[in-house]
Amino acid sequence: MYKHDLLIIGAGLAGLRAAVEGVRQGLNVAVITKVHPVRSHSNAAQGGINAALTDRGDDWKDHALATIKGSDYLADQDAVEVMCKEAGEALIELENMGVIFSRDDDGKLGTRAFGGQKKARTYFVGAITGSALLHVLYEQSIKYDLHIYEEWFVTKLIKDEGRISGAIAFDIKTGQMELISAKAVVLATGGAGRVFEPSTNALICTGDGLSLAMQAGAPLMDTEMIQYHPTTLSGSGILISEAARGDGAYLINSEGERFMENYAPDYMELASRDVVSRAEQTEIDEGRGVDGCVFLDLRHLGKQFIEERLGYLQEVALEFRGIDLSESPIPIKPGMHYIMGGIKTDLNGATNIPGLYAAGECANVSVHGANRLGANSLLDTIVFGRRSAVSSVEYIKSIQDLTPDERLLSREKSRIQSIIDRPKGMRSSELRLKMATSMTKGIGVWRNAESIENTSQIMKNIRGQLSNVYVENKGKIFNTDLVSFLELEFMIDVAESICQGASARLESRGAHFRTDITSRNDLEWLKHTIVELSDQGMNTKTSDVTITEWQPTERIY
Ligand SMILES: Cc1cc2nc3c(=O)[nH]c(=O)nc-3n(C[C@H](O)[C@H](O)[C@H](O)COP(=O)(O)OP(=O)(O)OC[C@H]3O[C@@H](n4cnc5c(N)ncnc54)[C@H](O)[C@@H]3O)c2cc1C
Repeated sequence: MYKHDLLIIGAGLAGLRAAVEGVRQGLNVAVITKVHPVRSHSNAAQGGINAALTDRGDDWKDHALATIKGSDYLADQDAVEVMCKEAGEALIELENMGVIFSRDDDGKLGTRAFGGQKKARTYFVGAITGSALLHVLYEQSIKYDLHIYEEWFVTKLIKDEGRISGAIAFDIKTGQMELISAKAVVLATGGAGRVFEPSTNALICTGDGLSLAMQAGAPLMDTEMIQYHPTTLSGSGILISEAARGDGAYLINSEGERFMENYAPDYMELASRDVVSRAEQTEIDEGRGVDGCVFLDLRHLGKQFIEERLGYLQEVALEFRGIDLSESPIPIKPGMHYIMGGIKTDLNGATNIPGLYAAGECANVSVHGANRLGANSLLDTIVFGRRSAVSSVEYIKSIQDLTPDERLLSREKSRIQSIIDRPKGMRSSELRLKMATSMTKGIGVWRNAESIENTSQIMKNIRGQLSNVYVENKGKIFNTDLVSFLELEFMIDVAESICQGASARLESRGAHFRTDITSRNDLEWLKHTIVELSDQGMNTKTSDVTITEWQPTERIY
């Protein structure tokens, strides 16, 4: 058995920021990750990170209001206040650690505009912001000599006497399975994009942490809030960052019209993502698209500007579509990008289970509500990653050491072995594709009672078939076939919880737009949906939204 004070599951930005803080606070910290840390999905973030810097004449309250309006008033306003107040310090600290942010003409930190905000407060490193941040935090983790279980896969959390005291995981490289004991655990496992197909997310974004938490008894919140990003390449689902529109790109339909004028005349292309995605889908549905797409037009920005500020996007466009952005518009459509919902936590990342914390995309604090603003997620990972480690310190100091029961490890070993031993059956890839395409069809930009119910039934059927899946590779070394199956088990939990949330919420708010109930209903639904696991299956209830000073009003862009 391995032993640590604090075990962090996930080595993306939330996990590494939590880990660095844990060491600074004097804890024995370990990080566990199913891929090399810099291959975490945070690496793919392009556009930037939001912060209201006071020396720019910016005001955190302005950022908070934009975030709350963006969330369609579903975000908890105390959490948004914390995030926006701490943003400036968090950003400068990243710079001090070594992030080389892009500069403006005066040599100061440069900004670009992002959607849902009138003020340009998105700080960036070209179009590789996430990669730059992640590499710097990884350097810090080496400096602090953190223990990293690299390419280890967590299958279960250990719960003893009502509290979390570690996790069970296996080394993907050797198959060796271990119980890792810890006084507290932070889940920082990232998003669940692959529950949908296509998605902008990496193949590793399978919502493992949401399922691990739910299985341990922690509730998930607002899981129906799935963000469809307005600009993804058709087919592959690859993201074309909002940085393009932030830097001036237009959206046009098949007739060459900047159609956002009809939907969001004030903010145009930079309205909130849910608003822009619905506008695009309406254009496509009403026949003003081409092959299910509308177009992103950068031609007027000029070749030099595109290559300097958006070089990575130019590369993607050339490589995947053979299109030079300075010469032709590129076909795009809304695509699944982010899950606003997640493991319910307080302002310090604590869940309802002693010893269990969550931060980053897997968590729901809740700062994004029904729709996340672009560039607020990187901020969320940094602010709440740090806070979760700080709050775990007090808890760790207050508890008695517990030695987890080793029998839990043998039970989990037998469970995994019994999966490997299944002689024949279906392949997990078949079910994975069926699950993910059905989710996109039924829980898409539009949804209604019928589509949600159908999808829910499909997920139940797929769950029923999981015991028929077999793993072809019977070996121990790099058994990615086994990993895929275990991920599918996690994803089905997440998919069902999304259907539960979507079916419960009888209104349209933010990313959850029901064609059968098209308006927002603050009287009955200014509420979070909460999905919990019980012996009978998943239950849904609601809880109140925290309002501090911003009363809900009509949301016009
Ligand atoms: C293409 C793209 C572009 C984006 N651009 C931006 C942007 O410009 N600005 C912005 O604010 N946001 C952006 N986002 C969103 C943002 O990048 C993510 O929400 C954020 O980086 C998530 O960070 P994280 O630390 O929570 O998780 P991740 O970075 O996804 O890391 C998850 C970690 O958990 C580990 N893990 C998961 N399951 C297990 C398991 N079972 N066992 C062991 N380890 C496990 C993984 O190995 C990984 O290390 C973008 C997202 C995408 C997909």
